[in-house]
Amino acid sequence: MGGTEGGEVTCDIVIVGAGICGLATALALHRKGMKCIVLERSEVLRYEGGAIGIMTNGWLALDQLGVASILREAAYPLLGRKIIWLDSNRQQDTPFMNGSEEVRRLKRSDLINTLYNALPPDVVKFGHQTVSVKLDPQTNYPVLQLQDGKSISAKILLGCDGANSVVADFLQLKTTKVLARCVTRGLTNYPNGHELTPEFVLTIRNNTSVGRIPVDSKLVYWFVSHPWVQTDKNVSQDNELIRQHTLQVVRTFPKETLKMIEDYDPDSLSLTRMTYRAPWDLLVENFRKGTVTVAGDAMHVMVPFLGQGGSAALEDAVVLARNLSKKFLSTATDPRSIEEALDQYIKERRMRIFELSAQSYITGMLDIESTPLLLRFVFNVLRAILFRDAKRHSRYDCGTL
Ligand SMILES: Cc1cc2nc3c(=O)[nH]c(=O)nc-3n(C[C@H](O)[C@H](O)[C@H](O)COP(=O)(O)OP(=O)(O)OC[C@H]3O[C@@H](n4cnc5c(N)ncnc54)[C@H](O)[C@@H]3O)c2cc1C
Repeated sequence: MGGTEGGEVTCDIVIVGAGICGLATALALHRKGMKCIVLERSEVLRYEGGAIGIMTNGWLALDQLGVASILREAAYPLLGRKIIWLDSNRQQDTPFMNGSEEVRRLKRSDLINTLYNALPPDVVKFGHQTVSVKLDPQTNYPVLQLQDGKSISAKILLGCDGANSVVADFLQLKTTKVLARCVTRGLTNYPNGHELTPEFVLTIRNNTSVGRIPVDSKLVYWFVSHPWVQTDKNVSQDNELIRQHTLQVVRTFPKETLKMIEDYDPDSLSLTRMTYRAPWDLLVENFRKGTVTVAGDAMHVMVPFLGQGGSAALEDAVVLARNLSKKFLSTATDPRSIEEALDQYIKERRMRIFELSAQSYITGMLDIESTPLLLRFVFNVLRAILFRDAKRHSRYDCGTL
């Protein structure tokens, strides 16, 4: 961190949060020759969720960050998606565009560690929780208040602090919403190989769906999505309770599904509620105040039915660093130029994140069996009008860094 002025530490660019977005943004800035620090509240890197699907658009962003080739070695390409409806005995197969689409399921630890290892040492400051942000009345620059009582003054503050973002609160963004559904996620290791085809298989019965996606020849990622009930809150902190509860939820599913969940890797299990920013809010939110903005889930947390939240965070990182690097040439840069760069970033991202969030939301509402018929009709019409080409979202290119 830089020098101190009046007892406060000063830094040019501060990022809050060392998740996918914070690390990717730090790396993008680093590749453009811009120094920053990342404040992470946790003492270590976090890998919650086990694995993450990265589609073509995410790989294009990772190419720009210079880490795609390392990560391609870590997971094999998926060939397509199969949906099986157990109640009606139907099945639908969708190939991933005859090989022109790149979809892989990465272990979260591989993605996070690769981004982290590509950064210079000491960029990430662990155990630094930001509790609030205010603007310095004299300079109009942001001042972060940390939990340990220290404060940091920054020229630019980028909030990559996830769905419950302190920086989003400072920007007075509307509070996030929660869906009455939750997801258990886990990894299962098959030391002798699993022999599953490299495809995403989604099995649905009533209001519960089970996803199964191989990461490589020995590791399988799975999730169980089901309605949220009050007791889920009590089990979400205890792995064994999560396992028992999840097995109960999928008890009528095929035996292999139960076996896969029974054999889970204890470090990988999590039970999460689905949080989102309303897509229509994204069209009007003011994502900047002074030289402060947000990216990743802090800006646009979305329901995971499209599997695009992480890739969208990687795109944010590239677009944000590209725009900042055009204007932030030295520490003497006029704040107005920084604000213009941030406005340009927000302008480039707004429709993209609206479309992703809206498509995720509509897809989710149509997937959930309990959605009332009239709403289902409305969502079907919206989908036909807005998302006729259902895979367009994954062909998006965020451009060069
Ligand atoms: C069930 C599920 C499945 C998903 N599947 C996919 C998928 O297949 N593909 C995909 O692309 N996306 C997927 N997503 C979305 C994806 O996980 C997120 O979009 C992505 O992790 C967002 O990264 P982030 O860095 O913005 O936020 P986070 O991952 O939440 O990281 C935020 C970081 O900030 C830190 N932090 C928070 N507050 C503070 C603070 N006050 N001070 C300091 N540090 C702080 C946290 O500790 C954390 O490290 C899924 C999401 C869910 C829920």
